[in-house]
Amino acid sequence: MIKLHDKYFKPFISAQQIDQALGQMASEIARDVGDEIPVFVGILNGSFMVVSDFVKKYPKQCEVTFIKLASYEGVKSTEDIERLIGLTQDLTGRTVIILEDIIDSGNTLAEVHRIFKNEKVKTLKIATLFYKPEAYKKDFKLHYIGIEIPNKFIVGFGLDYDGLGRHLPEVYQIKETQHMTNLVLFGPPGAGKGTQAEFLKEKYNLVHISTGDVFRYNIKNETALGMLAKSYMDKGALVPDQVTIDMLNAEVEKNADANGFIFDGFPRTNAQAKALDELMDSKDSQINAMIALEVDDEILVERLLKRGKTSGRPDDADASIIRNRITEYYNKTAILKDYYTAQDKYYGVDGVGSIEDITGRLSAIIDAL
Ligand code: AMP
Repeated sequence: MIKLHDKYFKPFISAQQIDQALGQMASEIARDVGDEIPVFVGILNGSFMVVSDFVKKYPKQCEVTFIKLASYEGVKSTEDIERLIGLTQDLTGRTVIILEDIIDSGNTLAEVHRIFKNEKVKTLKIATLFYKPEAYKKDFKLHYIGIEIPNKFIVGFGLDYDGLGRHLPEVYQIKETQHMTNLVLFGPPGAGKGTQAEFLKEKYNLVHISTGDVFRYNIKNETALGMLAKSYMDKGALVPDQVTIDMLNAEVEKNADANGFIFDGFPRTNAQAKALDELMDSKDSQINAMIALEVDDEILVERLLKRGKTSGRPDDADASIIRNRITEYYNKTAILKDYYTAQDKYYGVDGVGSIEDITGRLSAIIDAL
C-alpha cells in the first residue's frame, strides 16, 4: 500500500500486465497501418510513460510527437475548460494515432476531435492503455484499448493524484474504505465470546457476526443451510469450510456500510482464516487483531452445562459433546493462534473473572490498536 497526500492506494495493475497490454496494442497497430509511417501523438502530461514504452515495442518506423492539455487562458481549474496546445507539425495526409494513458469521461477525446477537425489527416485513430467503460459518456470510437478498468480512481504509470504518483512503474487503485476495525474474537466454547461481543459491539459501533448464531437462526427457520449445518452441529463437529465461508461472505455483504466487524466463531480453520483475509482485502480492509479469551477446560465444561439448563442448545446439554467441542477447538483451531501470531495480531486475554473486568481487558487491547 502507498500514501499520496491524504489518500491510500493499493496495488492494482502490475508493470508486467501493462507491458503485455502495450505489446499487444503495438502489434495490432503495426498490422493495421500496413506500409504507412504513422505519427503517434501523446497527450501530456499523463501519456509520457505510455508513449515511451509503446514506441519501444513498435516494430516498424514511426514518428512521435506530443500535445499538451492545458487550462485555458488562465481560467485554471475553477472552470473545467481545458485545451490541447502544441500541435505545430503539418499532419496533412498522415495516419495519426493518438496515444492516451486513460479514457474515462471522454472530455479530452472531444477536445482531440475538435483540434483535429481542421487538420487534413488521412486517418485519426485513438489508442488508450486504460479505458473506463462505466465512465465514458461520448460516442467517439476507440480503436485500440489496452485494459478495461472499473470506474475507480487510479495512479501510477504517468497518472497522478494532485501531482504525485506519476513515476510509479505500476498502477494503484484508491482505497475506499479508509478506516475499519475488524476483530476476531477467539476462544473455546464457553469462554464468553458472545457475552463480550455484545459489549464491544456497542462500545466500538461494530457489527457482530457469530457463525454459530447464524447457523442456529437457519436451523430454527428450517432453511437448506440450516438443515445441512444441523447434522454437523448436533455432533459438535465443524460445518464444512466452503459452506461456512459462503455464509460468512453473505453476512459481511449484508453489512456493507459497517465501521467494522467482530467475528465470533470464525475463522475456525486455516482455510477460513485465509478466506477471511481475502474477504477483508476485497473490502480494502484487514483483520486488525485476534483476541483470544483463555479459560481452563474444567471451567468451560461447568459453564456450558449451566448454560445448557436455560439455553435449550442440544450441544450444551451433554458433557461428552461439550468435551468433544473443546477438543475439536484445540485440535483444529489452536493453529489459528500461529496464523495470527505470524501476522503479529494475536492477543491472549485471561477469560476468568467478572464480565466487566474481562471487558476492560479487551478494551485496553482494542484502544491500543
Ligand atoms: P458456536 O456457537 O460458535 O459454539 O458454534 C456452534 C457450532 O456451529 C459449532 O460446533 C459448529 O458445528 C458450527 N460452527 C460455528 N462456527 C463455525 C465455523 N467457523 N466453521 C465450522 N463450523 C462452525
